[in-house]
Amino acid sequence: MAQTQQASPICLDIIVVGAGLSGLAASISCALSGHRVTIVESAKELLEIGAGLQVTPNSSRLLQAWDLHGQLWESGAEPSCLTVHRYSDGKVLAHDADFDQKMRTRYGAPFVDFHRVDVQLALAARARELGVTFRMGQKVEDVDFESATVHLSSGASATGDLIIAADGLWSRCRDCFFGRKDPPKPTGDLAYRIVLDLDQIPEGELRERVASPAVHFWIGPGGHAVGYSLRGGSMYNIVLLVPDDLPEGVSKQPGSVEEMRALFADWDPVLRQYLDLVDSVDKWKLMHRDELPRWVNDKSNFVFIGDACHPMLPYLAQGANSAIEDGAVLGLLLGYIQKKEHIPQALHMYERLRKTRGEAIVRETFAQRKAFHMQDGPEQVSRDELFLSQLGSELQAPYPSRWSCPDVQKWLYGYNAFKEVQEAVQQDPFREWSFSASL
Ligand SMILES: Cc1cc2nc3c(=O)[nH]c(=O)nc-3n(C[C@H](O)[C@H](O)[C@H](O)COP(=O)(O)OP(=O)(O)OC[C@H]3O[C@@H](n4cnc5c(N)ncnc54)[C@H](O)[C@@H]3O)c2cc1C
Repeated sequence: MAQTQQASPICLDIIVVGAGLSGLAASISCALSGHRVTIVESAKELLEIGAGLQVTPNSSRLLQAWDLHGQLWESGAEPSCLTVHRYSDGKVLAHDADFDQKMRTRYGAPFVDFHRVDVQLALAARARELGVTFRMGQKVEDVDFESATVHLSSGASATGDLIIAADGLWSRCRDCFFGRKDPPKPTGDLAYRIVLDLDQIPEGELRERVASPAVHFWIGPGGHAVGYSLRGGSMYNIVLLVPDDLPEGVSKQPGSVEEMRALFADWDPVLRQYLDLVDSVDKWKLMHRDELPRWVNDKSNFVFIGDACHPMLPYLAQGANSAIEDGAVLGLLLGYIQKKEHIPQALHMYERLRKTRGEAIVRETFAQRKAFHMQDGPEQVSRDELFLSQLGSELQAPYPSRWSCPDVQKWLYGYNAFKEVQEAVQQDPFREWSFSASL
């Protein structure tokens, strides 16, 4: 199936709220479909907070098709294996070898670990090249759904044919959609996010692990840790996932290094040696949301993408990857419209293609938590027996790590946004369309 993009004969004015990974992806895809795109972003400059970002084949194939600049790919690290360790002694429970090669062979696209800011800046540069306008330092305060207008904190406004709400977990657009405050809910977990530079790491095994990219998971009672290399093996990213003890209403705050080390005091000495090198750390409350009844408004001039509609636990590294899929699919569909009357069909097709998948991925992240965070006991023993029974052999589903489970991996990484859209449009070509036709 060709990874080509259809350019629409008409040019829509599209307002994208938010220049996160979903908003940038949607902007590129809509611009490639021939539309005029304006991004309204509350931050004054693009400095994606956070650290590592695991880009999986379902979205790396899109980044490749969008011709992002070559330095991005040079800045990535392709893990050669995925290894799951028991938390207490580091015992290997699972080892998915030649992972980099397997990903390229199975899915035709790589699994790459990046620094988030590298991906965000590469997407923004490509969007600018395609003529996307950025209005930085402009916060959306209100949305007028009648006229498809966003009202900004500066007093200015922007009107388009379509508003794409890509404003993330704390989406203001979502509040406007409901006409009331609709804050996200705690998942019960929080993340400590850590990045170490290679020169912070002493010579020896720890440094060698960083210089040879791989993904390591340590799984234990009520939490897990993930470590992987960034920037060609010159940085190490560690995320620690533990029960949430942040006060209600606090989404992020500086953490105590001592407290963090105490939580992992009984864990694998290798992990502890990395934690001993950390001098500061932030704690992020992990949030989620109830499923929305619709992702598109009745007037078909407003649509949600990314964390604004399906935030998830980061336990499968799919939040950004699925948000990039959203943006790609939406833009691709908008390439097929021949006239403005086709917008409702494009948006409802987008919702049909994306909502079920996005929400299923959210549920799968909670299932991964259950499998990784088991308390020591009979259930954990049978999980570990299942892991060990397959060590060194061809994996069979169901498998406790969805990252390697043949069924879940294929469903996640095998997704091809180009193919999905082409098939959907072939089955249901664009035509005069009325709202009732979608019901
Ligand atoms: C610890 C951790 C690790 C993760 N690791 C991964 C990973 O490896 N792989 C992966 O795929 N995902 C990962 N994720 C998830 C991923 O970070 C998110 O799902 C993704 O960034 C969502 O992108 P988004 O564009 O929808 O939202 P955001 O990135 O939140 O972007 C929203 C943008 O909208 C702007 N904005 C907000 N409100 C307004 C407003 N009112 N007006 C104008 N602009 C506004 C914001 O400034 C921001 O730029 C991780 C998450 C966490 C917490």
